[in-house]
Amino acid sequence: MIDIKGLYKTYTGKEGNTEALKNINLRIEKGDIFGIIGLSGAGKSTLIRCINRLEEPTKGSVFIEDKDIVKLNDGELRDMRRNIGMIFQHFNLLSRKNCRENIAFPLKIMKYDKREMEKRVDELLDIVDLKDKKLSYPSQLSGGQKQRVAIARALATNPKILLCDEATSALDPNTTSSILKLLKSINETLGITIVMITHQMEVIKEVCNKVAVISDGSIVEQGNTYDVFSKP
Ligand code: ADP
Ligand code: ADP
Repeated sequence: MIDIKGLYKTYTGKEGNTEALKNINLRIEKGDIFGIIGLSGAGKSTLIRCINRLEEPTKGSVFIEDKDIVKLNDGELRDMRRNIGMIFQHFNLLSRKNCRENIAFPLKIMKYDKREMEKRVDELLDIVDLKDKKLSYPSQLSGGQKQRVAIARALATNPKILLCDEATSALDPNTTSSILKLLKSINETLGITIVMITHQMEVIKEVCNKVAVISDGSIVEQGNTYDVFSKP
């Protein structure tokens, strides 16, 4: 589903260059919940942002269903991004818009028919179990509820892949657990492949079937979660 080959990312700045990613090779299969774990500054965020080209790789390829997204033009990239949803640590909701409007936002951009849009928003609210908050604004929601809205928005266009950037790092342990359960059920019932970066081992152990450990811009270990973390 996602095949990353020989990926490098170097940031160039006034104080010199930072090699954030060095020769990353990863294969994420359809249906995986694939965790990428590492310390702060290891390159996790750069790596996940290369998967939807929010970051331009310096070298290498990111194949998504056999298309190298590094080589796509702007129009092709826009189409490809419809297949990739993303959620963030701090939710990134529009604070002046209510839940319904936040979730409808990507559909509006895609010029969905009004009635279809309302129907889809209701479906999504149902999936994330937030029907009663349809007209609430982000400031009226708990952290877990905000992340549910963000998940609904990310799923609006029916993506095949969901990228999670430290999606539970701002949440307490109970809320983290309930968001992870939701992600797992989305993976199982909708067949969406999930890639999550985190610095929290509990997150990996709770939901990821595969894991890669990133350190100083390189993958130092990868495999089935059980194998990687049960070695003596
Ligand atoms: P992580 O997500 O694991 O904390 P990042 O991908 O954010 O790691 O960062 C990896 C390295 O790249 C760090 O040394 C960081 O300082 C550097 N870095 C990240 N983003 C930028 C940027 N926009 N410009 C320059 N350096 C950056
Ligand atoms: P959690 O501990 O799950 O993050 P909170 O204790 O913050 O949740 O919120 C519990 C309930 O209170 C939620 O149903 C949420 O909608 C409501 N709530 C939280 N913050 C506000 C607020 N600023 N205004 C109105 N309702 C709120």
